[in-house]
Amino acid sequence: MIAEPTTSAAVQALDASLNEDLEALRRDGLFRPLRVLESAQAPEVEIGGRALISLSSNNYLGLNTHPALIEAEERAAVEWGAGTGAVRTIAGTQTLHEELERRLAAFKHTEAALTFHSGYAVNVGVIGSMLDQGDCVVSDKLNHASIIDGIRLTKADRILYEHVDVDDAERALNEARQKGHRRILLVTDGVFSMDGDITPLRDLVERAEHYGAAVMVDDAHATGVLGSNGRGTTDHFGLHGRVALNIGTLSKAIGVVGGYVCSSQIVRDHLIHKSRPFLFSSSHPPAVVAACIAAIDVLESGQELIDRLWENTRHFKDGLRALGFDIGRSETPITPVMCGEAPVAMQLSDLLLERGIFAQGIGFPTVARGQARVRTIVTATHTTAQLDRALEAFADAGRTLGLR
Ligand SMILES: *Cc1c(COP(=O)(O)O)cnc(C)c1O
Repeated sequence: MIAEPTTSAAVQALDASLNEDLEALRRDGLFRPLRVLESAQAPEVEIGGRALISLSSNNYLGLNTHPALIEAEERAAVEWGAGTGAVRTIAGTQTLHEELERRLAAFKHTEAALTFHSGYAVNVGVIGSMLDQGDCVVSDKLNHASIIDGIRLTKADRILYEHVDVDDAERALNEARQKGHRRILLVTDGVFSMDGDITPLRDLVERAEHYGAAVMVDDAHATGVLGSNGRGTTDHFGLHGRVALNIGTLSKAIGVVGGYVCSSQIVRDHLIHKSRPFLFSSSHPPAVVAACIAAIDVLESGQELIDRLWENTRHFKDGLRALGFDIGRSETPITPVMCGEAPVAMQLSDLLLERGIFAQGIGFPTVARGQARVRTIVTATHTTAQLDRALEAFADAGRTLGLR
């Protein structure tokens, strides 16, 4: 017989205390169970035994199930083993890891690249290690949480500017310059993850250059989406050589997991010696690295998947607009359906789920209060029929909630 697990009073007290926080979330309609997929992440997923059309993933090009990536993973695991067993500075760098970084640098037209465990780890590891007391970070107010966390880790001064507001960014840059900071880094998402708008990178780079500031772009949602062969925001605006740090993730359009920074060799050497997420955490399994290399092969081989992504994006956005939904200021495949307060977004998500569509409601603190939404992302691998079924479900659920 298996004994019932018993817990001490101290363990129970912690649970009781934490549960008060959870109760507050439940009261605000923000408590969300994890949705468990019983299938691969694909345009159609299985949840609770039901087939649903997913508009929730960041799997822009469907590369996570691309045969070339899966084959590369299998081969690499056999040849190189399941894991590397060490942090890279001690014993965990294999030629495969170095090859991926050479390929990323070549793809992004930079001198060097360094990979991290995730996009999150890059932002925390780069900002946290590069800036110190006497430096200043100038940051868009709606930058990703991982950038905000990176900023929290530095002793550098921080000046926020209004979202995508170039004049306000200039005000911030000027203020930083006046105070005589050593390093000034302007940081922005390339494509903003909740609204799908594109940063005005050309103007920001020009102003930053004027004030002697370096620019860092987080292209988590732009790589594989914008620029030639999906090279990202820097390529989209023709700014090669003028963006010091091109951050990206291997977890979204690339279809695997990880993050990277493409930069000068000096930045790479600096990070290898100073960046704590790099120094104190083990390297990616070889299979992950090999799949990422295969993904770059796919991107470099042609534009076809990216073209399909944009055709699907236009079709879906046009449909939502024609139905009378507010889709905010999106310019990319990220399309929010604005709902106002969080409970409405959660209700819309639930009604969509009943109608066979998986699209998550998002509320505070991920987005501002009063700006709750159902966020959708179409991918290159959705069929027009699937998108039309999703639009029908939105039409019906949106009418029920008075959103259109
Ligand atoms: C998703 C995202 C990240 C984090 O990337 P992961 O690889 O998932 O950790 C970082 N920055 C932005 C802008 C993102 O959207």
